[in-house]
Amino acid sequence: MELQRILELCNDLNIKVRSYNSIDVRVHCPFAPWKHAGGVDRVPDMYIKVEEDNVSVFHCFACGSKGLIRHLIASLAYYRKQDYRDLLIKYHEEPKIRVFDYREISLAKPKEDEEFFIFRLPAERRPELVELHEWLDRGISREVIERFKVRYDKKHDRIFFPLYSIEGKLVSAYGRCGFLDRNPKYLNYREGFSCSNYFFGEQFFEKSLGYLILVEGQFDVLRMVDYGYKNVIGIMGHNPDLSKFIEYIDKIYIVFDNDKAGRKKAYQVAEKYYKDLIVKIVQLPENKDPCDCSKEEIELSIKNSKIFGIKHLTII
Ligand SMILES: [Zn+2]
Repeated sequence: MELQRILELCNDLNIKVRSYNSIDVRVHCPFAPWKHAGGVDRVPDMYIKVEEDNVSVFHCFACGSKGLIRHLIASLAYYRKQDYRDLLIKYHEEPKIRVFDYREISLAKPKEDEEFFIFRLPAERRPELVELHEWLDRGISREVIERFKVRYDKKHDRIFFPLYSIEGKLVSAYGRCGFLDRNPKYLNYREGFSCSNYFFGEQFFEKSLGYLILVEGQFDVLRMVDYGYKNVIGIMGHNPDLSKFIEYIDKIYIVFDNDKAGRKKAYQVAEKYYKDLIVKIVQLPENKDPCDCSKEEIELSIKNSKIFGIKHLTII
């Protein structure tokens, strides 16, 4: 989004602009009344990125709110209890990198295994699976979306990510909220079922490759697979237990968000496994996650990654 349009958007949304240049617009975080201590953002801490010919993102370094322009509008609508549909249309942006049109996709009929799973759910958790929500549109190819059977759950306004075991059996599903701040962020469709032993994407694990790429969330998995990487699994906030893979692998790449929390988590995992495996922590550009990165950035980060520990050889 161009600078002038961002300024206009801020005006339309009553967001107070502090300063701007050709790179970004610095504003007082409009989520401050709900998300900042004291209810104000005096610093101010939010930046909206100027993009001449691509989509803009916003990021508040105080409360962590971030996303595309439409997320900003939709979240503000939610918090302020305002109808911003006109603004969503007015400021609609077409990402350049996107390779499919969500409006083309109609997935009204779930696949058989999903159907089986869905019918065992209590009524209130039964999703109404339809075409993909536009929120999913992060430039992930239709082929990958189909491969992972990602759907939109209309009933709960969530993106439906089925979770499969390494044997390819459907075990549960996560529903990630469409907007930024809905609670819970992830809905576990199978109540009382612990997903902690499963990784998003493990159904595609290929033993012969000998390695694993660990990422944090589902979108990171989709993005990496879209870029052509294999054996990518999402740890989904759990402390990963890789025992089911361990006999097939001798190397892991940890590709977590390059923020404070992500780096800390990466070190925890590395420390746990470096004695048994070659562990490489892949450092992405500062404050980026795999979804924010181009293919080249990820390639370069992997190329530059260093071995965390030396593999201990078993003496027979
Ligand atoms: Zn904020």
